[in-house]
Amino acid sequence: MCLVALIISPINSTVTIFTDSKSSIDHFSYLQRQQLPLSPRNTFKEASNNILWNIIMDIVEFNSLKVNFVKIQAHSGIQYNETVDKLAKEFNNLNTLPLNFNIDQITTIKYVPKWNNIIIENNLRKFITSISRNRGFELFLNLFRNRKYVNDIDWIAIFFALNDEESTTETSFYASYKKSHKIKFLIEELPTIEHVKKRRPDLYDQWNCSMCKNEKETFNHIWTCDNHKDILQTLAFNYNRIYMDINNLIWKPRCDQQILNETNAGIDRKSKYKKKQNNGPSLPSTNNIILILVLILI
Ligand SMILES: [Zn+2]
Repeated sequence: MCLVALIISPINSTVTIFTDSKSSIDHFSYLQRQQLPLSPRNTFKEASNNILWNIIMDIVEFNSLKVNFVKIQAHSGIQYNETVDKLAKEFNNLNTLPLNFNIDQITTIKYVPKWNNIIIENNLRKFITSISRNRGFELFLNLFRNRKYVNDIDWIAIFFALNDEESTTETSFYASYKKSHKIKFLIEELPTIEHVKKRRPDLYDQWNCSMCKNEKETFNHIWTCDNHKDILQTLAFNYNRIYMDINNLIWKPRCDQQILNETNAGIDRKSKYKKKQNNGPSLPSTNNIILILVLILI
């Protein structure tokens, strides 16, 4: 409605708009303080209705309008406000819009971004971020190895747990490392002995679990190992931060013991990360790296 009022106002006129929308008034004032006409950069930074705001500010600038707003109480019986409210509701129920703009004619935007032929009306950068995340997540879920994650998983809770160390405004290497480590727990990509054997069977042939020495150390064995049973039973009833607790009480001591065993066997860091001569299967695989990256970005 505001747009219609502006379109029909003569050039150089002063327009007073009575509206019950405080957010519209505030946002108009904010945009007026920007350099007009709005640059594509500012337009696409808009949280919503970016094209509409661009058109409004374009009309104001082009027709040299002076716009004043008066905030009125909604649903307080003010005649024209009630009429406008009624009209807006009527149009909401229609499939066609009361006004159609030829977006190709907008002078300040050369290209209007669309997704599946739908104009992207919210913050473009955030939209691209969420599309990339959703695509990555879809890729993750569609992998055969992740079929067990398709049903009955509370992903909101999982992402909350994955992100709880990370600030939304800055990237910390420590938080990113922690997140990638949590993801390795989630997708069972911990460098267990059975895991590293695939890359270096020459170094770890016949090696068993570094804690109990009795069984092959698979991902599942970590949680069923006799040496971890008591700790896990205690944690099941009394944990503070489950990831930190498991990491500090189970995985870290296991890694310390593994490093000790490797040192005693003459395996140092350099020989461990050296590629095996006969090009055996590499670890982690490209797929796993992509998977971890995708989940870190989510
Ligand atoms: Zn064991």
